[in-house]
Amino acid sequence: IQWEKQIRVSAEIHRQGGMSVLVTGAAGFVGSHVSLALKRRGDGVVGLDNFNDYYDPSLKKARKALLTTHGVFIVEGDVNDAKLLANLFDVVSFTHVMHLAAQAGVRYAMENPHSYVHSNIAGLVTLMEACKSANPQPSIVWASSSSVYGLNEKVPFSESDRTDQPASLYAATKKAGEEITHTYNYIYGLSITGLRFFTVYGPWGRPDMAYFSFTRNILQGKPITVYRGKNRVDLARDFTYIDDIVKGCIGSLDTSGNSTGSGGKKRGPAPYRIFNLGNTSPVTVPTLVSILERHLKVKAKRNIVDMPGNGDVPFTHANISSARRELGYKPTTDLQTGLKKFVKWYLSYYGYNHGEAIN
Ligand code: NAD
Repeated sequence: IQWEKQIRVSAEIHRQGGMSVLVTGAAGFVGSHVSLALKRRGDGVVGLDNFNDYYDPSLKKARKALLTTHGVFIVEGDVNDAKLLANLFDVVSFTHVMHLAAQAGVRYAMENPHSYVHSNIAGLVTLMEACKSANPQPSIVWASSSSVYGLNEKVPFSESDRTDQPASLYAATKKAGEEITHTYNYIYGLSITGLRFFTVYGPWGRPDMAYFSFTRNILQGKPITVYRGKNRVDLARDFTYIDDIVKGCIGSLDTSGNSTGSGGKKRGPAPYRIFNLGNTSPVTVPTLVSILERHLKVKAKRNIVDMPGNGDVPFTHANISSARRELGYKPTTDLQTGLKKFVKWYLSYYGYNHGEAIN
């Protein structure tokens, strides 16, 4: 197969030093940023993505084009394709897997429950099976989510807090993922690090997320729907800038312990770790809108409604002391600064007259 040859060449180049990383969901928002950052520091990266149409596939193609120009090789395929995975692991001795492929979004689950089971549960198990059988076994870092804290209202959320009350099917599949990966760590000794991301935003972001769709609507003069929680309390999120998340992902890969990579250190008992990756400073949604208005220089038409019971939780707030201590994780971008960078990217990508091009 043609891609085998290309991957062999890229694996050969990186055999001398850095990691050799399989990034799943590489054409996605976080995956594209992580792939580029790894490539820039000299690691070998192979990306895998099924380019599904959950949101505008042309954005995924554009991210792929960017990655390709930087020398990241992307394979189009599904994490449920066991044969493809076996083939990939056969061709490249991956030292690490950065697993970011998933069906994201909480509301979409109301109409499409099975796509969450397909990607977040069945796909995860298929990937774990491939990692278990690979020689050498790669260390796995994967994206869980802050949504696992569900109905827990004790903030800030710490990793040891209860996660047994998910508010959406998305959250339930991420929670299941934590238990599935624990099993593979316990039985097969796979090194596992689960990262609970808190509302990631930034350039090349996801069109289904509020900051992105608000930007589009504000520029088009359309109203935006702002949810309000119980007792008219504003919703708040611990918005975390993409570059900070990327540093947390790379810190996790670097400390995840593996038999062949990262300075050739020998692995003791395989670790099972879970970290919050947030920003520790929640911001309300109305404040988010005000910042966007300032950066866009356009007034938003707010349509304020009570939050329907569709999977959203009222607020999120991360305690990041574990990630700080063990990964050297230190978020540095506040929402003002991060949104300024997002808006700059948005306007250069779509322009001021962005019409109906994306969903
Ligand atoms: P994204 O949707 O932009 O990226 C996911 C990518 O995975 C997409 O390109 C998609 O095409 C691909 N994919 C989905 N199912 C697949 C499958 N079965 N096989 C192969 N590829 C598949 O989302 P993102 O925001 O980049 O999120 C990355 C990860 O982080 C996801 O696991 C998500 O659940 C998690 N996460 C994200 C956030 C956030 O705020 N962005 C918050 C918490 C957790």
